[in-house]
Amino acid sequence: MECLLTIEIDALSKTYITKELTPFLYNLKNKSHFSDLETNLTFFEYIDSFTGLYPEETGAFSTFYHDKISTYNWLRYFRFLDNIDTKFTRFIINGITNLGRLIKGKNNFVSISRIPIKKAHLFDTVINKQICNTNSIKKETLFDLLRKKEIKHCYINLPFISKNNENKYIFGLSDEKAIKSAIKTLKESYQFYHIYLRGIDDLTHYYGINSDEVKNRMNQIDKLIEGLVTKFNNKYNLKLMIYSLHGMIPVTKTINILELLDKSDLKENEDYVIFLDSTLARFWFKNKNAKEKIIQTLNNIKEGEILTKDRLRKYKIDFKDNRYGDLIFLVKPGILILPNYFQGNNLVKAMHGYVPIKELDGVFIYNDKNTRYKKINRQNITKIYGSILKSMNL
Ligand SMILES: [Zn+2]
Repeated sequence: MECLLTIEIDALSKTYITKELTPFLYNLKNKSHFSDLETNLTFFEYIDSFTGLYPEETGAFSTFYHDKISTYNWLRYFRFLDNIDTKFTRFIINGITNLGRLIKGKNNFVSISRIPIKKAHLFDTVINKQICNTNSIKKETLFDLLRKKEIKHCYINLPFISKNNENKYIFGLSDEKAIKSAIKTLKESYQFYHIYLRGIDDLTHYYGINSDEVKNRMNQIDKLIEGLVTKFNNKYNLKLMIYSLHGMIPVTKTINILELLDKSDLKENEDYVIFLDSTLARFWFKNKNAKEKIIQTLNNIKEGEILTKDRLRKYKIDFKDNRYGDLIFLVKPGILILPNYFQGNNLVKAMHGYVPIKELDGVFIYNDKNTRYKKINRQNITKIYGSILKSMNL
């Protein structure tokens, strides 16, 4: 039976694929279609890869947008929690929030990360369902197509596993667990698999691009994948696609946007609402004065730029409404906004979410038994969608 196995290794960089570090991937790369993958300016790269569409077409760009109806509305009454803000407090908030979401059919778990608790009710989440489920976004996804064509598929993004749109949750998030879960399904039969491996992304943020921690882990991941592929090869006539949707850039400098805004006499939430991603500061204005003053402040920051209409169009994030902000400020590659609502005050060593320069490229490897292999020119991550359809003759 034919099967396409797709594996996303989050933040896998081409530089990690070497004979010494990752012999399996290295050999595979040399006998496969291979290309560099241009990333997109988004934090939802996987949606671009499963639809073939850009952020402005799918509506997915950053995890949170400003909305009056928020997942975190209940926190309005718990603002005092900012005074006892510990890891445990946030663990409980995430538990309660996700339970409430699940009851409403929102099975895409979210984390409040480091959003100040008193501000959380101002923001809601963009993606509420797992991408492999029906009506996950307004556009047709790969998984909609698989359902339409009655192609058996299995999607593993721990703690979530979906088999032909039937969902379950397991304990554990590790890449070992993800691969074990995939091997367990070999009793059943699927024509399409997707396995998401998150560990390298986490480690690279924390330890940095060329750290021993990341390199050692890559060596282990290589062995895990080799084991998995061997087992799949024994059962299936296997086609294999391994990719990453972005790389990382070392963080060289941080900027404190909140501090710069403090110098103006504007009042947050009365004059403007702000959301701080790691690389973006997004603003919603409540009056003209606030808009003018904030633009003035941002224009003086040389580590970034206000995204003009031209730039928004270029990066395909020119949304029809202002859900992501009346104004978006983007920092230059290597700059980190700190504090921000994901890392809080914690400095990380590497980041993504910048304009798609080559250093941020992901990688694409495709192997089946009937093709003569070649190096393909650099392509955008949206092309993965077409490659999957072509591989499965869809
Ligand atoms: Zn990341």
